[in-house]
Amino acid sequence: MPLPVAENWFTAKQVGPDVTLILEPHVHVLEQANMFLVQGRDRDMILDTGMGIVPLRPFLDTLRADPDKDIICVSSHTHIDHIGGVHEFATRLVHPTEAAEMAAPSGLKSLYRDDMPARLIQTFLDAGYPPLDEVLIDALPYAGYDPRSYVLRGAPATGLLDEGDSVDLGDHLYEVIHLPGHSPGGIGLYERATGVLFAGDAIYDGPLIYDGPGMSVPDYLDTFAKLRALDIALVHGGHDPSFGPDRLDQIMAKYEAIWRG
Ligand SMILES: [Zn+2]
Repeated sequence: MPLPVAENWFTAKQVGPDVTLILEPHVHVLEQANMFLVQGRDRDMILDTGMGIVPLRPFLDTLRADPDKDIICVSSHTHIDHIGGVHEFATRLVHPTEAAEMAAPSGLKSLYRDDMPARLIQTFLDAGYPPLDEVLIDALPYAGYDPRSYVLRGAPATGLLDEGDSVDLGDHLYEVIHLPGHSPGGIGLYERATGVLFAGDAIYDGPLIYDGPGMSVPDYLDTFAKLRALDIALVHGGHDPSFGPDRLDQIMAKYEAIWRG
């Protein structure tokens, strides 16, 4: 059956002071990552850039008070659903461990289920994701779009972010926290003044994936210990709705119980 054409490819919703959540609602929930625009006094930041099925920048700039202001692009990690639009930004930051992957993506890079390794699909199903249709989108971004033409471009980093570094937007200062487990170079951005944490896929309020390439349960456990040491008021995860400290504790306890048997 031919796919319908989407009315809007992206949606946007304000989720905090200066913070806008951007989604691609027609992408299967498994690969539907959160993108966060933070508008700062001195510069803006886009954290993660979706699948790259269509350009993000034109839509993003409609959301910004000043589209001519500097904007820096931070990748929480380099899975397909987080780096699709990195090539659209002049400043591109990522953890050193995943810089090579961002420059030349080697992981998943197709919109077709049958291009995924069967074992990985099973991992997603076991984690609790709904079954995948043949194509990972349920609508076309525009008439005549061919999902076979999809390319995950990637782009070389222009700078690196590691534990102890910071991202300064003028009125928002984020500390970089290395949060491996879901991927070796996963990073979070923590604003100490407000307790807001952008966690990437280190933690979110949905099925965590810990059994795929580059993933590590021991690293995940260390990452959760690191999160416990922070005073966190609000988590903006890499997927699913944002949540507070009580839910954070519940999610961590649930997975620790699974991992420790
Ligand atoms: Zn991921």
